[in-house]
Amino acid sequence: MSDLSDFARDAVDRLEQVDPDLFDMLQREYERQVDTLALVASCSPEDPSVLACEGTFASNVTAEGYPGRRYHAGCRHVDEFEQLAIDRAKAAFGARYANVQPHTATTANQTVMTSLLDAGDTIIGMDLDAGGHLTHGSKASLSGNYFTSYGYGIRPDGQIDYEQAEALAIEHKPKLIVCGTTAYPRVIDWARFRAIADKVGAWLLADITHIAGLVIAGEHPNSIDHAHVTTTCTHKQLYGPRGGLILLGKDAEMVVPDKNVTLEKLMGKGVFPWFQGAPIVNKIVAKARALGMAMTPEFRERMKRIVELSRGLVAAFEERGVRVVAGGSDNHIVLIDVLSTFDVTGIIAQKALEECGIIVNKNRIAGDTKSIFVSSGVRIGTNSLAARGFTAADMPGVADLICRILEAVEADDDRDYALDAAARDAFADESRGLARRYPIPGYGQRVAH
Ligand SMILES: *Cc1c(COP(=O)(O)O)cnc(C)c1O
Repeated sequence: MSDLSDFARDAVDRLEQVDPDLFDMLQREYERQVDTLALVASCSPEDPSVLACEGTFASNVTAEGYPGRRYHAGCRHVDEFEQLAIDRAKAAFGARYANVQPHTATTANQTVMTSLLDAGDTIIGMDLDAGGHLTHGSKASLSGNYFTSYGYGIRPDGQIDYEQAEALAIEHKPKLIVCGTTAYPRVIDWARFRAIADKVGAWLLADITHIAGLVIAGEHPNSIDHAHVTTTCTHKQLYGPRGGLILLGKDAEMVVPDKNVTLEKLMGKGVFPWFQGAPIVNKIVAKARALGMAMTPEFRERMKRIVELSRGLVAAFEERGVRVVAGGSDNHIVLIDVLSTFDVTGIIAQKALEECGIIVNKNRIAGDTKSIFVSSGVRIGTNSLAARGFTAADMPGVADLICRILEAVEADDDRDYALDAAARDAFADESRGLARRYPIPGYGQRVAH
């Protein structure tokens, strides 16, 4: 009899047999993840039950269209998977409409923009340098080329410059305003953005990719009924598969003036057939699983702890004289100014910390004098620490380890540095010790060999 459990177990054995080189590569990556501390704010460890969904044969089905309206036969169960994912997404975010097919948050944003706007229309979004995302109007992405874009920034106190956003909106009369961020540690005022959008007759897109988990748990205000459209990915704070969602709240059934269809119809057609082909069904199964987890009391507790960990890090860093950008954190992100504090650039800090088993990313900070490839800051995220079960009481130790590593680094210039090998090995032992004390749930302990 064929059995799903046997299938999954045999699949890994089979990979080891038929492609040992690739298997070994994967084994080494597994060990790296288990034995290092991932403090990259834009990632989270997937629960093995989510990974199990991703690894299924659901991907064998070509399923263009939507549940009950497919272009192919054989979609009876796929319809159930997708409907479950839709129902859970709606429940999790309090949405009236959810599209679970976008391949990523990037395609979700591009779908929304290219459905609502015409080429050459004007958009306003947060500057990349200030903490916005590439897809919010950066000249390096489609969004800043296909559309005319203007960017707002942050004030010297680190808060979003809403006055600037409003002034830009009044001056340029955009057809769409994007809010939502990639490297912003404070709360976003959705209502304020909607007021600006309404004032100039613009659409408001809230991209909550970074804070989707906090939103579900009520730890950050929900954009769903403030923005016309909300987008998110499912892999940063939802511990889910790489993928995107398009969500609509109270405006779901409004008629889009120049298109004569409702917003929800437009988004449905926008994902397929306008922007994408067939959905990636195994990802949809995994989204259903991740969204199921996101509505549990355990998840809510984890989201609460994410913010506690960030605040614990902020307090510990400030105690040691580290300059924390924006003066604190209300979410999972702590931005520190490593250049003014440790006299090392962001890229050097990133590399030195990685050598010592702590994974972060360099990040530009307000008024940064260094290029995007060098940067003056480091962005630290607590999603993964929270999943591993770290508590606020552990944060002084983590901040202390980061500080000691950065103090031990001797920078030669913006990119080159020296770190004593014995000191590096001792630091790496310390972070490995922490990683083993708090294993990723379900990932087991690395077996020494
Ligand atoms: C990471 C990010 C994205 C892009 O996500 P992908 O799913 O990797 O394409 C979009 N918007 C924001 C705000 C992000 O931080």
